[in-house]
Amino acid sequence: MSGSGQLGGGLKLRVLLASSEVHPYSKTGGLADMTGALGRALARAGHQVGVVKPLFRGVRERFPELRRMDWRFDLPLGDRRVDAALWVHEPEPRLTVYFIGHDGYFDRTGLYNENGRDYADNGERFIFFSKCVVHLARYLPWRPEVVHVHDWQTALVALMVQHERRAGGWMDAPRTCLTIHNLAYQGYFPAWTYGLTNLPWTYFHPDCAEAYGQLNCLKAGIATADRLTTVSPRYAREILTEEFGEGLAWLLRRRQGQLRGILNGVDYEEWNTENNPHLPASYSVRDLRGKTVVKAGLLRELGLPEEVDVPLFGMVTRLAEQKGLDILLPALHEMLAARMRFVLLGSGEARYVEALEGLRARYPGKVGVRFGFDVGLAHRIEAGSDFYLMPSRFEPCGLNQMYSLRYGTVPIVRAVGGLDDTVVDARESVERANGIKFHEYSAGALAHAIRKALVLYEHPALLHRYRVNGMRMDFGWGRTAGEYEAVYREALAAPP
Ligand code: ADP
Repeated sequence: MSGSGQLGGGLKLRVLLASSEVHPYSKTGGLADMTGALGRALARAGHQVGVVKPLFRGVRERFPELRRMDWRFDLPLGDRRVDAALWVHEPEPRLTVYFIGHDGYFDRTGLYNENGRDYADNGERFIFFSKCVVHLARYLPWRPEVVHVHDWQTALVALMVQHERRAGGWMDAPRTCLTIHNLAYQGYFPAWTYGLTNLPWTYFHPDCAEAYGQLNCLKAGIATADRLTTVSPRYAREILTEEFGEGLAWLLRRRQGQLRGILNGVDYEEWNTENNPHLPASYSVRDLRGKTVVKAGLLRELGLPEEVDVPLFGMVTRLAEQKGLDILLPALHEMLAARMRFVLLGSGEARYVEALEGLRARYPGKVGVRFGFDVGLAHRIEAGSDFYLMPSRFEPCGLNQMYSLRYGTVPIVRAVGGLDDTVVDARESVERANGIKFHEYSAGALAHAIRKALVLYEHPALLHRYRVNGMRMDFGWGRTAGEYEAVYREALAAPP
């Protein structure tokens, strides 16, 4: 392992993480939670960490301490040259966050889309961003030895680094690691977009960056990253199959030796039932009374009768097909005649917004829905509900079920991906059960699981045991960061 700096005790690593979203700066989903927490956990373990992301609208206003650096990118982008500004934030020791500022690309209302429509130049925006990442990796004075990229937006970095290592004389180029947070989003763009990379067209081939005549950014990363990871052990196995492989199972099987499933961690400083600024009361595994106060407040907030003895089912989600809304809606139509309530916070596809509005109109006083992105309400739904629903069609890791476990809210999940890895049902262990699982992707199977929950609710001692079992689970970042560190070390030990 060459060039690792000595810091504190053992050999410490120098790692540059690159992601389109990073909590607490910009977030649309779990990717932001994961990259934000991984950066912090690695820095706290003593490693030198950089995190690079685009400077999206509003970040400078919310973080006025950002400093502008004297740095020039001035990079080729097809037949043009494009410059960007570099801003930095140093939230804690050994952690530097780098922001790529380009108003034309990033000073927009949305991260990837607006009014439900993807920005037409997403390919160009993230090819440019990827180039900036490679430039930083090459010229930052602390010389990162591992560049860890995430999802399609930065996957091309792996190909760019490999190309410069082999053809561009970058002898001590860093090793690359690509984490697949969701194989369903691959970054497909028209073939001409590939020209913006300024890479040789030899890589525009079905074994690398091309698929069906188009540029496929994620595929290029899968083909070329030194190491591949995904966000749960079960999803790492699932994506090797045709059912979950999204057309890339064959390539993933080819690279299986480099692929590892590492369960995401939970940031328990943030997702905490005690002294949480988003919650009106504290509670803990020793004293759950505050949870009822949160439930009452949540019912009030969503305009529902404040009857805390009626079982409450909650959900916080992107309104996308992946999340199982197609089976959720008929299952709720079947179940809402029972003594139960349902609350949902979501943003996404208009067809689901309409369907949920319809559900609310049909069951007044029983259904509370809120559309938009609201971190505080997300915490209150996680904490104030009795049961948390995740009927996903597929789920690479899923964070919400882990949050609900910590919040003493019993998850009801389809047994796929990270949901299967984190939730234990009574069939697996009567003693350790913390949730309810179902297998078949159907409204009937989900309704059956909801019925089981209603029965559980009638048995307070058993329900209490489920809650306590869940609250005692530990998905903290220490373990996850350690597993990534092992992957980085493996990559550094192997010849590039
Ligand atoms: P995914 O990344 O597929 O959207 P995850 O369960 O891994 O799903 O992570 C979703 C994250 O985004 C969680 O932190 C969740 O609380 C949050 N989230 C999703 N939708 C919303 C919303 N409308 N408002 C606030 N937070 C949301």
